[in-house]
Amino acid sequence: MQVLTFGAGHAEPARGATARFGAKAAGLARLHALGLPVPPGFCLSVAACDAVRRADGPESLARAHESLWQAVEEGLDFVEQSTGLRFGDPESPLLLAVRAAPAVSQPGVLATVLNVGLDWARPEAARGRIGDAAFDCAWHLLNRYLTVVSGAEGAPLADLLEAQTPQMPPVGRETRLRDLSPEQAQALLDAAPAALAAAGLEAPPRDARLQLRGAIDGVLASWSSRRAVRYRRRSGLADEPGVAVVVQAMAFGNLDAASGAGVFFTRDPNTGAHGVFGEFLPGAQGPDLMDGLSTPGSIFAAGSPFAPEQPGGAPRPDVTGLNLDEVAARIEAAFGDLVEVEFTVSAGRLWLLQCRSAARSARAAVCTAVALADQGLITRDAALRQVAPEHLTRLLNPSVDLRAAQRPLAQGLPASPGAVYGVVVFDPDEAIARGAAGEDVVLVLRETVAEDLEAFRASVGVLTARGGMTSHAALMARGLGRCCVVGCSDLSVDAAAGRFTVRPEGVVVTAGTVITLDGTTGEVYLGAVATRPADPPAALPALLTWADEARRIGVRVSVDDPAEAERGLAAGADGVGLTRTERLFLDADRVSMARELVLAYDAAARRRALAPLEPVQRADFVRLFSIAAAHAARVDRPCPVTVRLLDLPLDDLVTEDGDALAAVASRLDVPARTLGERMRALRTRNPQLGLRGCRLGLMFPEVYAAQARALFEAACDLDAQAPKPGEGAARVPLEIVLPLVSSAAEVRVLRQRIEAVATEVGKARGRTPPSWRLGAMIESPRACLIAAELADVADYFLFGTNDLTSATFCVHRDDAGRFLPSYLDQGLLPHDPFVTLDDAVVRLIGLAVAEGRARRPDLRCALSGAQANDPRTVGLAARLGLDEVSVAAHRVPIARLAAAQAAVDERLDR
Ligand code: PEP
Ligand code: MG
Repeated sequence: MQVLTFGAGHAEPARGATARFGAKAAGLARLHALGLPVPPGFCLSVAACDAVRRADGPESLARAHESLWQAVEEGLDFVEQSTGLRFGDPESPLLLAVRAAPAVSQPGVLATVLNVGLDWARPEAARGRIGDAAFDCAWHLLNRYLTVVSGAEGAPLADLLEAQTPQMPPVGRETRLRDLSPEQAQALLDAAPAALAAAGLEAPPRDARLQLRGAIDGVLASWSSRRAVRYRRRSGLADEPGVAVVVQAMAFGNLDAASGAGVFFTRDPNTGAHGVFGEFLPGAQGPDLMDGLSTPGSIFAAGSPFAPEQPGGAPRPDVTGLNLDEVAARIEAAFGDLVEVEFTVSAGRLWLLQCRSAARSARAAVCTAVALADQGLITRDAALRQVAPEHLTRLLNPSVDLRAAQRPLAQGLPASPGAVYGVVVFDPDEAIARGAAGEDVVLVLRETVAEDLEAFRASVGVLTARGGMTSHAALMARGLGRCCVVGCSDLSVDAAAGRFTVRPEGVVVTAGTVITLDGTTGEVYLGAVATRPADPPAALPALLTWADEARRIGVRVSVDDPAEAERGLAAGADGVGLTRTERLFLDADRVSMARELVLAYDAAARRRALAPLEPVQRADFVRLFSIAAAHAARVDRPCPVTVRLLDLPLDDLVTEDGDALAAVASRLDVPARTLGERMRALRTRNPQLGLRGCRLGLMFPEVYAAQARALFEAACDLDAQAPKPGEGAARVPLEIVLPLVSSAAEVRVLRQRIEAVATEVGKARGRTPPSWRLGAMIESPRACLIAAELADVADYFLFGTNDLTSATFCVHRDDAGRFLPSYLDQGLLPHDPFVTLDDAVVRLIGLAVAEGRARRPDLRCALSGAQANDPRTVGLAARLGLDEVSVAAHRVPIARLAAAQAAVDERLDR
């Protein structure tokens, strides 16, 4: 089937319609099946359209066109029958809207041509049907056709309109003739062919069928335009399958005062609050609203046909007797989603023209998903899939405290929530460059175009002078989670001069000035204002509880100090997945003790040096265990804690500082010169490949022995302080993990040494030493390859994907930033392997898990490393069959949700 018809006498679209015709047509068919008013129309299948787009020669193009036109004729028959109008009829023509219908919405980048079928040079004849709007429609068609089909740059007829209407303010690209008399409008249309000829452009055809062919080809070609291709690249959307085309009877928003175009959302896309939210632009056709050149009002504002109070108490126009709340509820129930609906009111009648899953703020995503599941409209699994894990970042991060701020500089529309400050930049390319350099940039624009996507991404916030809540700027910002204020009409932006002026006082703000945006209230402030804590919605805990019920893998927190453990556990971590003990050595007041330790010239001196470090380490571990024990008591299940023994490149402790050396020398009671020599002996050419990880523990046995002692003593203390037996160390299963393991022998030797310390501590305290498990950190290709041997000696595996990636690529993570961005730009790598796991690293992990479990089927395998902070890595870890990931404290809720989504996807795949 090449054509899908909708809008008259049809039920739900057949299964598979979305795949063949795209979401737009399927959505329209569905709206109609719900009994809602949809202008009759048809959709040409993606396959039929692709055949035209991909034709590689005149013959294949002719064949593809022929088959496409057959489908068009079939569709036209249907629309003519449904409307009782004839396409190309000179007196009362059927006029059509031709729109692109991609699988995934690409707002603003694909073409639309309206009013197709109108003789643009002589619209007079159509006045019988659409009145004086015929002229506006003709001008609209003429201009659109020129850009979409004839490929004209800019607005070739703008000067003509300007000359003809000198007294009128310029109305931008989408010029309207509404305010001209029919004679003036006709004179303008009469002058168009000569103006076009002068510009070297051919006038569009007047014949309806030729127009339709041109419009369909133009809309198809827009799929391959530079703008569209760039948009898809930047949004990670595939080029194939291509695009379908929807052709639909026109609904005229420009007929009279009771007409107009608008967009509504089934609930507030910023807050998720129940109730219709929308905008309406009286007397406009759809694109006028979407291009952000005009600023629409609220759908319920005075002057809108949906306003509760009509001007002068006039009766409300009959919007087909439909209650918008009821319409929205019906749509939400059917789609199980927050839906954005584009509509037109034509002489008091409501028509729905398009619907799509709405771009929404993080808050709205969570509130909507939970509300829909609570209403039984979707399952909890579906609710979990509706929230992008990254969304939670915004909800859980602090924002700017605007209560502390001074009077706002300007007021716009709150397009995308959040509060940020940064330096004003007017040029999108500059925003990209400065954003990439780590600067907080607020992009200020008069209006936006889809090409600005990358600049949006690079900026912390976006401010526009024009456009409404449904403009591209608003949609893009909301989708990207960028704070955004639009339609700030008091702003006069002069990008070329690098400044904007704020009316009425005429305050001038130049490029480089810091401003603050509040995307929740639409206020703009001069300067930077204070921050306030995050304010997650009340619905979030429910969603995260569902996530915990759904997920199959554990989520723990990786910490550098006990305070982080507290934060991570409070955020819902199942335990501590990695405690890096280096910080505990390197804090300013401890580093000199640590230095003494490595610079000590023999074991006895090292033991002396360790003596003052041991109590501080023990105190740290006591604090860590107490936090875990308190958490275990709260959640009524054990809270395991993994502590990694020291993994410090020795060079980090070596110092060139004469004073520091002299201080250590005096405490160790050796000449400074001797220490200088020792320092030189310890220096390595590649510290990251040198004496670090468990090698350090093997070369300096006192270090690991001291750490193990501090750990076991802390565990004993916890037991001793426990109010009841079983409420101490038993609640905090201790896991000790060895960094950068590269042979089974390393693990074997270190296990024996740690065991010896455990026995010693137990004896000294007169208690059974606490039980513990020993893990091996798999951080090198070698460790992956000998996983079977390691499984014999280690109790579990912890993949350290930072080091594993470094070793696999032979690139140290700290140096990667010097050339990786260029590699990514040149397409030499698909993504940054230090952010998202690289395929080769995934293969190494897969191999290690398989070989390790072949030896010991119950081998626990976990993943730590910065990549675990990326929700995609959490999904990968689940697919690899890992038991757990360990992430930074502030990422714990994100990982919980990502893990749940992986489990839901897995269930759906089965
Ligand atoms: C790793 O290498 O991934 C890891 C967790 O250890 P670190 O980042 O501390 O080297
Ligand atoms: Mg590591």
